[in-house]
Amino acid sequence: MKVTFLGTGTSQGIPVIGSTHPVCLSDNPKDKRLRVSVLVEWDNYSYVVDCGPDFRQQMLRANCEKVDGIIFTHEHADHVMGLDDIRPFFFRQGNIDIYGHQRVINALERMFAYIFETENKYPGAPSVNEHYVDGTPFRIGSLEVVPIDGLHNTLQVYGYRFDKFAYLTDMKTVADSEMKKLQNLDVLVVNALREEPHLSHFNLEEALNFIEKVKPKRAYLTHISHHMGFHDEVQQKLPENVYLAYDNLQITI
Ligand SMILES: [Zn+2]
Repeated sequence: MKVTFLGTGTSQGIPVIGSTHPVCLSDNPKDKRLRVSVLVEWDNYSYVVDCGPDFRQQMLRANCEKVDGIIFTHEHADHVMGLDDIRPFFFRQGNIDIYGHQRVINALERMFAYIFETENKYPGAPSVNEHYVDGTPFRIGSLEVVPIDGLHNTLQVYGYRFDKFAYLTDMKTVADSEMKKLQNLDVLVVNALREEPHLSHFNLEEALNFIEKVKPKRAYLTHISHHMGFHDEVQQKLPENVYLAYDNLQITI
């Protein structure tokens, strides 16, 4: 399995528009973060988790020629606003599979009503196959995908486990019963916004505590704010086998 970090930034991305914060002005490519998303590839499958407003740019940057589907964590704008840009994939491949909680799919139906239109649909609009995720594991080809339930402040969100890899973003609370689904991971990706506490995201300390409990072989932090600091400085402070993810990073599991 190959995982590409398409974006590792928090909701505004880094640099933040108009910001003079030193991290926003950094020349280091590792300090430039598009909105959070990963590309997960195995066998002949190619899936993205979330498709935020930078989706088009991310697909071009990763030279991605095929996307079989999108698996959504939740309906916030930084995770869904690129849905219209599945059009090139739809034109070549036909309907694109989308997975998400029923509430998330309903939100997409409101935000992108023309995509879900069944009568007199505009010919250039893409079409999707909807798959509701209800917490029970589901299969894509031979791979079992296990939803991990959590809370983003009070909003329900799903993380997903794909075999030895798990991707959790926008988490603030994860019940012990859900953490049991994260045993024996090779790689855990989890959100860590900044050092200061935040009401809907793990801060760095909470993310490190979570990693300590889950005990994956390796862990990567994502959904990062410019307030976290410079990539190279933060990386030096992290425990062994914990890494600050950055855009374009590719890992093999
Ligand atoms: Zn987010």
